[in-house]
Parts: sequence; structure tokens; C-alpha cells
Amino acid sequence: MAARTGFIYKDALNEPWGQQICDRVTALNLPVEELSGNRLSGLRGETEQETYKIAKRTLAVVIAPPSQFRLSPIPPSADWQFHLAQGCPAHCQYCYLAGSLQGPPVIRAYANLPEILDNLAKYESSHQDTTFEVSCYTDPLGIEHLTGSLAECIRYFGQRDRAQLRWVSKFAAVESLLELPHNGHTRCRASVNINLIAKTLEGGTAPVKDRLQALRRLALPRPEGGGYPVGLVIAPIMAIADWREQYEGLFAEIETVFDFECDLTFELISHRFTPKSKDVLQGWYPNSKLDWSEENRSVKRNKFGGIKYVYESDTMKQLRQFFEGEIARRFRRSRLLYWT
Ligand code: SF4
Repeated sequence: MAARTGFIYKDALNEPWGQQICDRVTALNLPVEELSGNRLSGLRGETEQETYKIAKRTLAVVIAPPSQFRLSPIPPSADWQFHLAQGCPAHCQYCYLAGSLQGPPVIRAYANLPEILDNLAKYESSHQDTTFEVSCYTDPLGIEHLTGSLAECIRYFGQRDRAQLRWVSKFAAVESLLELPHNGHTRCRASVNINLIAKTLEGGTAPVKDRLQALRRLALPRPEGGGYPVGLVIAPIMAIADWREQYEGLFAEIETVFDFECDLTFELISHRFTPKSKDVLQGWYPNSKLDWSEENRSVKRNKFGGIKYVYESDTMKQLRQFFEGEIARRFRRSRLLYWT
């Protein structure tokens, strides 16, 4: 548990869900300070790295701003994304959030979750299932002991007819989710990688073997109903020197853990970075062993002119062929949702 200091903004004090979060946090013997306004200050350390570390250990209970009620699509993962929080207590040295969050990465948990959930119905299609991703700006399981918000989302989606929830995590504390009435409307996913990457680049997360066991528990049928649909997000896939052997080992481990019939999907994401995320992450982790070189990369442009660095096409082809082959060979009943 990485959050050490809690604050609640003045506006969030009147929200029952915000109060519920504060009660959980204080029950864990963590102090929650009630702020007289809606701003958090005084978190600056002497250096940028110190500020970053303080922010990562700080939880603020806030009201989600109006912009959070206008949802954006999030292909290829889901039709729409929504957020129960922003920020995450882990320290992944490639974190995709680094280039998107403004200012120090304080964890901001939303006190007006019921309103956020009510808003989703507007985005549901009446004639086909609509998927909603809730892990774009946080690791929802990583803060679940503090918020309870992921469980609330699962309960909400359990009651919808044509809406599906998707979440992904690098944590493993799933006990509180096992008995929820999910009705098969939530796909739980674990983000996994080879141990070499998880151990050196994913500080503060659960070991990969624990993430896999947690996902297994979620997928197993329970006396009161079926297990959850589950998925594995293998990310970021890195073309390190002996990547074939390393990832073969990961697939063998997955095969051992999922030795029973279940609804299992795969999503494959190769390592990429933007100039901004590289800059921010190199500031946060100056001693990182991550390969930030741009020479062996291709530049990909989006429609707004932004660029990102991805592996050059030969490496991409080899990686893709290998991963698709392993999944087809070992997991005949599973679906590969996308490679990117
Ligand atoms: S768990 Fe996800 S959100 Fe959290 S630091 Fe790692 S990559 Fe970023």
C-alpha cells in the first residue's frame, strides 16, 4: 500500500461516496485531512524526483471535473473510457500516464462516482453491446482497498443489459471482488510481462505470478455463479536480447495457471513512447535501464501531428508473428483481441 497521506477537497466532503472513501482510508489507520478549499499545495520536494515520490504517496479525494462527463473513445481497447480516479501508486518506468497527467502524479479518487456511473447510460448503444474501459488513467485494483470504487463499477455493470466493463491491473488483491454480482458483464484483465521486466521496471506492483493467480481466482466458477470473463494484457512487449526464450517462459507459465476452461482473451502491446513521456520518465527515473534509444524505432504520427516511437517494422513483424503463433498454439479457445 503506497498511499500514505490522504486529503479530501471541500467540495468532495458533501459526497456520500467521498465520505465512504475517507472512512475506508481512516480504517486503514491513514490520516485524512479535510481541506478548506479545492486545491492541494505544499507537496513540492527539494527535487523533481522527491516531488514525484511525495505525489505518488498522496491520495486526494476530489470531484471529477465536468470534462470527465464527456467520454472519449479508446480504440482498440474499448468503445469508451471513463475514470474512477487519476494516478496510481506504482512506479513503472515506462508508465503510459507520464506524458498525459498534468503536474505531480497525485492519486485523485473521484468522490462523485455515482454521478459518473449514471452518465454512462448516454453512451450505451441500444442494439449492440458497448464496452467501457476504466483503467486508462489509474490502476483501479491498486487503489481498491482505499476507494471501493472498482467494486461499485462492477455492481453497476452487473445490472446493465448491453454495457460491458473492462479493467486491467498489475496488482493482485482481488478478494473483495470475488463474490460480486458481475453477471458476466465485467472482463477482468491482468497486465503481465516477463519477470526481468516486471522486477526491474515495475516498482511497487505485485509479482507476475501473483497477478496470474489473482486472475485465475477471478475466472474460476464459484458456487453462486460463473467466474468472470478474464484477459491478459501483455505489455509493454520489449525486444530485449533473448526475447523469444523469455516470452516463451511467460506463455508456459500462463498455460499452467489457466489449465481449466474459461473465457480468456489476449491483448498485445509493443513498447512505445512519445518524446514527452520519455522526457518525464527520464526525469523521474534517471537510473532506469529501459532502452530509450530512438535509432532502432520508427516514428508513428497521429492525426493531430503528435509522434510516438515504435519498433521498426522488421522487429514488429517478428514479435507479432511469435506472439500470435504462441497464442494460436497454446490457447486454442482464447481470442486475441489486438496487436499494437
Ligand atoms: S501500474 Fe499502470 S498506471 Fe500504475 S505506474 Fe504502472 S503503468 Fe502506470
